[in-house]
Amino acid sequence: MQREYNLIINGEKVAGGRGTFDVINPATEEVVAACPYASVDQLNSAIDAAEEAFKSWQHTSDDELKATLHRIADRIEANAEELASVIVQEQGKPMFLAQAEVGGAVAWTRYTADLEIPVEVLEDSENKRIELHRKPLGVVGSITPWNWPLMIAVWHIMPALRTGNTVVSKPSGMTPFNTLLLAEIINEEVPAGVMNIVTGESGIGSGMTSHDKIRKIVFTGSTPTGQTIMRSAASNLKRLTLELGGNDAGIILPDSDLDAIAEGIFQTAFLNMGQTCAALKRLYVHDSQYDALCEKLVAIANAQNVGNGLEEGVTFGPIQNKDQFELVKALVDDAREQGADVLCGGEPLEGKGYFYPPTIVANVTDEMRIVAEEQFGPALPVIRYSDVDEAVARANACEVGLGGSVWSADTAEAQKVALRLECGTAWVNGHAEVLPHAPFGGCKMSGFGVEFGQEGLLEYTVPQTLNINK
Ligand code: NAD
Repeated sequence: MQREYNLIINGEKVAGGRGTFDVINPATEEVVAACPYASVDQLNSAIDAAEEAFKSWQHTSDDELKATLHRIADRIEANAEELASVIVQEQGKPMFLAQAEVGGAVAWTRYTADLEIPVEVLEDSENKRIELHRKPLGVVGSITPWNWPLMIAVWHIMPALRTGNTVVSKPSGMTPFNTLLLAEIINEEVPAGVMNIVTGESGIGSGMTSHDKIRKIVFTGSTPTGQTIMRSAASNLKRLTLELGGNDAGIILPDSDLDAIAEGIFQTAFLNMGQTCAALKRLYVHDSQYDALCEKLVAIANAQNVGNGLEEGVTFGPIQNKDQFELVKALVDDAREQGADVLCGGEPLEGKGYFYPPTIVANVTDEMRIVAEEQFGPALPVIRYSDVDEAVARANACEVGLGGSVWSADTAEAQKVALRLECGTAWVNGHAEVLPHAPFGGCKMSGFGVEFGQEGLLEYTVPQTLNINK
């Protein structure tokens, strides 16, 4: 029996005003369940409820806010099994990864709970005291994508609540159920109207970004949608955090210990079947080690067990949706037609489901679509270089700048090169690792603003300077 899901508006579970839409399991192409389709009137009611709830929620003490978030974390833990199972069914990732996503959601909630909101004393002299306070903004709109749906919802919602804001959430229509469950869990711990959720596509996202009662939009998704949101948010000068697409380069310095790094390169490129914003998406390898590294990556790729994430032993799931599946296929086919060598994978699996095995594409050029565009899927282009300066220039010749990495046994040298990369996070001997205490965000067209750490938390506040003449 399919579970029933509801919108949550002002603490009430309600059916969608425009009926329901089906959510598809990418491993089977069967319907997971029906998702409520909200009307624009329901969205407006949710925003009104959040605005009303803000009047008192903003005055909640720090201690109470912290305790509330810890209670929410307890409840996420208590519901971990159901959440992980729902994530596998609607998102497609293998169970171990869905469990890690739920674990991450708990860890981030607890870390955010314990962060402090500082009052800075800027001057305290005989006649004057100046303090910098941080106040909540009001209603925060959260719009999330389909790749790490629960984790990203937590990244948006928890700092908003911790700082005394109220929330209206709109998850991706591809993967809404985990976030509907999360909203139910949160509503067990907060007053009515503090946490609202509306699902549905047409008019909902745009209705949020243009609404004058929403004070901030936190958005994770593609760069074109981010640009649309930025234009729309101008109506009332909404604050924005935009976590957008990337096309992260990784550079392997000459004389690297390939045995030590090959697994890490593979795992960070194919994390979540490559559907990770800050996955390694273009791999630059020195001529002298090119063939050897390709060989090792192919061996790791061929050892993956591709299948339905609910089955034991599966390490690699399907692509989340048909459009993305078609895009990855088109990018690999295009590279092949232009003379690249597809060393493994390169063809969808037969049968039901959007299965595309891990694919290594060698002898590519920077002009090929698979290098120039974000593939956001299980196909890694491996690019040859002969000079490190040239590799850095090619890595930076890109409109986006989310992450980047440099790999070498000589970490001092790698660090120097890493600092030359134009990206929000540069890793040495790693990639795609995000942590609750390390601010994360993009530069160039990967967006602006950061999440995580105190810097991320304060993006949900507005500064107020208090200037006291004694
Ligand atoms: P998307 O931009 O298509 O959709 C993201 C969300 O925006 C969905 O909920 C969607 O319904 C909503 N949306 C679509 N049009 C809208 C509009 N006009 N106004 C308001 N909301 C709208 O992205 P996606 O396909 O779900 O996710 C994949 C993309 O997200 C990739 O480019 C990936 O790199 C990026 N991403 C970035 C990060 C990061 O932290 N930087 C994390 C995950 C994914």
